[in-house]
Amino acid sequence: MSPDTPIELAEHLQIAKGLPGITRKEWLPGVITEQDIQLPEDLKLLEDLAIAVAVGGDNREVAVIMEKATGGVHHFTLAIQGRLSRDDEEAARRLFQVLRIPGADFPSQIRSVISSYATPGMERALRVVAEPLDEFEIKVQDWLETTFKWQDLKQELPSSEEVLARFPKPDGMSVKKYITSLWMTLCESILDGNGNARQLSQINTDEVFLLAAQLSGSRFLKRLLESNSEKQFIGSVRYKLAMLGRYWTCVGGLAHRFRLIDGRFDYSWVRETQPLEKALRMTRVPQDIITCINPDIKMYCGYAVQDLVEQAAEQYKEDIVVSVHPEIQLILNGKDNSAPYVGSSTGACFCCKLWIDDYNKRRGAKWEITRSLEQPDETWAAPSPSGEDVMKMIHHEVTEMMYRTLMDAAGGYYDDD
Ligand SMILES: [Zn+2]
Repeated sequence: MSPDTPIELAEHLQIAKGLPGITRKEWLPGVITEQDIQLPEDLKLLEDLAIAVAVGGDNREVAVIMEKATGGVHHFTLAIQGRLSRDDEEAARRLFQVLRIPGADFPSQIRSVISSYATPGMERALRVVAEPLDEFEIKVQDWLETTFKWQDLKQELPSSEEVLARFPKPDGMSVKKYITSLWMTLCESILDGNGNARQLSQINTDEVFLLAAQLSGSRFLKRLLESNSEKQFIGSVRYKLAMLGRYWTCVGGLAHRFRLIDGRFDYSWVRETQPLEKALRMTRVPQDIITCINPDIKMYCGYAVQDLVEQAAEQYKEDIVVSVHPEIQLILNGKDNSAPYVGSSTGACFCCKLWIDDYNKRRGAKWEITRSLEQPDETWAAPSPSGEDVMKMIHHEVTEMMYRTLMDAAGGYYDDD
């Protein structure tokens, strides 16, 4: 049974998102955190820009594309999820103003302009990390003690020089002790005495973001993820830390590229060409969706159905505002001379990925997007007009994913008992 309406699609996406099953696998590749995966330079640039702009305003997803530099001039096009607000425009305006004139200490200039508009976004990112970090802080001390073979510091951290410059290593201190001290510094900087996120004003953001980037990409965490049984927990901490660390890494990337661009660029926002947002009211409750979706669910999950319903219900919302996600807005606005990359601040969701793959196949286009966990996002809406077979395919894939998620989550219950 495939959903036929946008409401049914949103209902299925909500169920898939509300259960942990599918993410258990998806955390593992560490999509964001594998720093050894080489990305095209232009895609990296667009990602860095999207991240830097998205932390302004209310932290909604931002995506950026650019036209291939003609006569040395880059033209960037930006889009945001939902309605473009004054805050978002202002954040981009201030950032680009600084990027236009590369100064002597360019990275600090970029960092300080981002801090001038980014408080809400950064506070949110800190809260997201703080939530699992409280428990992680206790466990990581034991894990650091286990017998890993520690390598030279250069092998342990993605950029050991940057870390050493900010956190000097006392003579004679072992690598293990030094990395342990970095973890403790990070945890104590983010968490207050009660295990909650500190206020942004109490935090040295430069240090925290640098440590988040370095420790999420550390060899220790990678090996821990390979060997430890708490993969989902470690994977989610690593992912959240990496997202926080991107506030650090994006600055280095921007400084490097905009020095080369040397002021020769302009930019514009995608303005509404069709009503972007639409409010939907769900017609079914999780119970109905889960028990109706397929008789197999009842057969396999049996008594676990009630648990699944409760879990899914926790995040289930009756009212959803859907919109055409920024990646798709940009692709539809792409020009013949657009570079085939979409940089995005959070990465494409499950439906965007399906839509873009399909678009590429049909049009012979080659759009590449930011790596992401490709998670279900119930705010997804199809652009209009959309072909019937595209929608059929997306509805089918979403239903399949919801089904797999349900079976996976139910499987978890069997293992526990
Ligand atoms: Zn999306």
